[in-house]
Order: sequence, then structure tokens, then C-alpha cells
Amino acid sequence: ALSTWINVPQGPPVSITEAFKADKFEKKINLGVGAYRDDAGKPYVLPSVREAEKKIIDEKLNKEYAGITGVPEFPPLAAKLAYGPNQDVLDRVAISQTISGTGALRLGAAFLQRWYSGDKKIFIPNPSWANHKAVFSDAGLKVETYRYYNKETIGLDFEGLVADLKAAPLGSVFLFHACAHNPTGVDPTPEQWKEISKVVKEQNHFAFFDMAYQGFASGDTDRDAFAVRYFVEQGHDIALCQSFAKNMGLYGERVGAFSLTTADAAEKKKVDSQLKILIRPLYSNPPIHGARIASEVLSNPKLYKQWLGEVKEMADRIITMRALLKENLEKLGSKHDWSHITSQIGMFAYTGLNAEEMEKLAKEYSVYATKDGRISVAGITTANVGRLAEAIFKVKG
Ligand code: PMP
Repeated sequence: ALSTWINVPQGPPVSITEAFKADKFEKKINLGVGAYRDDAGKPYVLPSVREAEKKIIDEKLNKEYAGITGVPEFPPLAAKLAYGPNQDVLDRVAISQTISGTGALRLGAAFLQRWYSGDKKIFIPNPSWANHKAVFSDAGLKVETYRYYNKETIGLDFEGLVADLKAAPLGSVFLFHACAHNPTGVDPTPEQWKEISKVVKEQNHFAFFDMAYQGFASGDTDRDAFAVRYFVEQGHDIALCQSFAKNMGLYGERVGAFSLTTADAAEKKKVDSQLKILIRPLYSNPPIHGARIASEVLSNPKLYKQWLGEVKEMADRIITMRALLKENLEKLGSKHDWSHITSQIGMFAYTGLNAEEMEKLAKEYSVYATKDGRISVAGITTANVGRLAEAIFKVKG
């Protein structure tokens, strides 16, 4: 037959789960997944989410289309969760429901590409979530990096970051992970955020926040929103991508939001209209079920309170697993300083292991994670942490 796609080359695999699946060892450990697991290593549906879902099903709602910007009650609730109960700000936030955090990023990228008056370029941290570069460049923006991670200290390269903010052309767009930086788990302190905000303002840069882990990092949704709210308080206009994949465990429901703060209600109206014009030819309108669930959780006082507790439980389990891993490594007699494992935050830990060591972990110990040394702490359980520490100890010493 004629081949239409003869020029299409084989692409590299986009996930590492294939090697894990192929491994027959019973006690293999998957630290590659970007999703929360309970202490039995199982996917977790939050009880508050189950209850909200049941209520929605019992209401026997219809399945009509949402509007272009989503289920009507959802965007204002998402905005309030992120920006806090500051009505002045909420009245001038242009916002739309999106196809989770990735969809928010893609919509934000499209908006910048069409409407940002400065360079159509975005600076992302080095390293960053692997999808950032692809999302922004596929939307037609140039992507450059700024210094973020210091290999020597396994911490933040704050001086490098500030120097790169200062060296970029005035009015550049900078992407920041609002909390729980992926993949490093290294965040600026509140004092460092204040300095970053100051320099961003001096340079007339534009801050584009990706907040995929609100509440999931510290266990406190307000605390994790510090950077976003501080920038807004300081008078910046910002862009914000929200995901409810992690903090509500709504991964496959694809619930997210994209917002831009604007000068006033009149400007908000114009920006909202352009968001709709961008969304319509992309996917017309977003899915309804997950956004209905999230709206119920966010607006029902009892479920909201319960949810905050459940978010904290997830965050706490991760924090406990970090401590246990460090403790086990020390007990084995490791001479390395593992304090970064507990000082880092969020779902991931950047172990400092190199590609060769990560390959050894997989081949010899059936421990699977990305070769940059990032492990998903959510994949650690009280049952496997001992074996994991031993494997790391044997590889790294
Ligand atoms: N941004 C970051 C930094 C992430 O880690 C993720 C999820 N891994 C996302 C955005 C988006 O995820 P989702 O599309 O599932 O909401």
C-alpha cells in the first residue's frame, strides 16, 4: 500500500512505566509515577471527592455542554482558592476552566503568543517539569532557561536565579513553580520570593505561575499560595495555571483553571473575551464531571473542611516518607548528607543520584525512576522504604 507517513520517524518513549511493567520481580518499586499513592501503594480517591461525586450523581443532572469557560460555578471557586478571599482581586481576575494544569499552560501559552506585547519568549527554570518546554514551544513561544538548581548544594541557586532575572531583556516572561518545584522539590523561601518579586518588578518582567500542587506541598492551601498572593499584593499582574489533579486526586478528570489578573473589571471583560476566542477552536468547551465535583468540594462548607484535612493527610504521609527514607539511609551507615530529602517539598525528591546510579537502581534493584535522579516520594511506603534505602545505599554508599 502507499505509505502516507513514510517520513514519520519513531519518537522516543514518553514515559518510563514500560520498563517497570516488564520487570517480573515481585518487590519492584515504581518511583516514576506522578500521582499520589497510599501507604499500601494504591491509587487514592479522597473521601470528600467520593462524597461530592455521589451528591452530583444523585442530583441526576443533565449532560449538556458547559460554556466555553467551563461549569459556571467552578472558575470563581478556583480563583478564590488560589488568590484568597480578596474581593478586589477576584473582581479583576479573568479566568477559565481548563483541561487540567497542562491545558491551563497551553491556553496561557496561546494567550501570550497572541497578546503579550514584549518578546514572545518564556524563561523556564533549569531544570523544570519536562512538559513545560514542549507546551510553550508547541504554542509558538521561544523557550529559554534561567538558573534554578545548584548541583553542589542540591538546593536553590538563588544568586544565579536573580542574576538571570537581571540579565534578561526588560519585560521578559518568567515561569515560576508556585510551590513544590517539579522535579527538584526545591522552593524559594518566603524571603527569597520577596526578593524575586522585587527584581521582577524592577525589570518590568511578567510572572507566569504554574501551581500544580496547592496544598499538596505543605498541607496548607494558603501557605502554598504564598508566592502567588504576594506577587498580586505587590501590584504585579500575573498569569496562573491551576491543577486539581494532585490536591483533589482528580488526575483523569482533567480539572484546572487558567487566570490572568487585570487592571480592573473593564479590562477583565476584554481579556475574558479573548480567552474564549482562543479556547473555542482548541476544544470548544471543557469536560463537566470533574469540575462539578471540585465545585461541590470547594463550595460545601462541610466537604471543604474535610478536604483540607485530607490534603494535609496526603502531604503529611509524603513528609513522613521523606523522614523515613533519610533515617533508613543513616541507619545503614551512609556517610552522605541526606538532609535535602527532608528539606525538599512536594511529591518529588531530587536525590542527587546521577544517570548511571539511577540505571543501576533499576537494573540491579528493580527501583524505577527518572534518570535525572528524581524519585516520586508518593511511591514510597512503610513496607518498601527499607528496601529502597538499602538499594540507594548500595548504589551510592
Ligand atoms: N505543572 C507541573 C509542574 C506538574 O508537575 C504537572 C503534573 N505533573 C502539571 C503542571 C500538570 O498536570 P495536569 O495536566 O495533570 O494537571
